[in-house]
Amino acid sequence: AATAERAPGPLRLGIMGGTFDPIHHGHLVAASEVATEFALDEVIFVPTGQPWQKAGRKVAEAEHRYLLTVVATAANPRFTVSRVDIDRGGATYTIDTLRDFRDMYPDAELFFITGADAMAQIMSWKNVEELWELAHFVSVTRPGYTSEDFGRTKEISLMEIPAMAISSTDCRGRVREGKPVWYLVPDGVVQYIAKHRLYQPDSADSAR
Ligand code: ATP
Ligand code: MG
Repeated sequence: AATAERAPGPLRLGIMGGTFDPIHHGHLVAASEVATEFALDEVIFVPTGQPWQKAGRKVAEAEHRYLLTVVATAANPRFTVSRVDIDRGGATYTIDTLRDFRDMYPDAELFFITGADAMAQIMSWKNVEELWELAHFVSVTRPGYTSEDFGRTKEISLMEIPAMAISSTDCRGRVREGKPVWYLVPDGVVQYIAKHRLYQPDSADSAR
């Protein structure tokens, strides 16, 4: 389809951070909706580094989560995947992600995309002002979470997106129980999970 020439001005970059264990259609709809609403040139998905644990459970190997994200985004010319958080190592802090992107793209306008739950966590960071200097934050609606607490903060845009009651936790649980994840995650993600036997009761990734 013919797309309009992009307006002159700085590159508009979306940054979508996540554990992506596995990536699902909630993540993809969020990125796509924000990209359209904010006229982004590109959305970069950034899988988190490997925390030794996340809320008491093992997280799938970074390399699997990275490749799942590549598989899920490959068909969209405006979606790419970055390894910065994985290559930095350890647990990921949004401030480090944003500093790295600021260094890599000094002239770009950065838009950090989060769901309402992740935004609430980010708001508890001790120096939020530092975050606002690095990027504009876009918080999308997510079923089961409320956005009211930070709706009045001018540095955050709230955006309502189609409700996708999907979580990675639920997807992992479904795989473990032998239920399908078709249509909750992209086809390639279903196939990758099966091929590598991720989230099976007997595999290292399935502690919870
Ligand atoms: P988990 O259950 O393992 O925490 P998750 O589904 O919450 O996984 P994350 O990788 O933790 O996925 O989330 C990455 C980002 O995507 C976060 O900002 C989160 O708020 C957002 N997000 C995840 N699922 C949805 C959804 N269904 N709708 C809107 N935003 C979402
Ligand atoms: Mg989550």
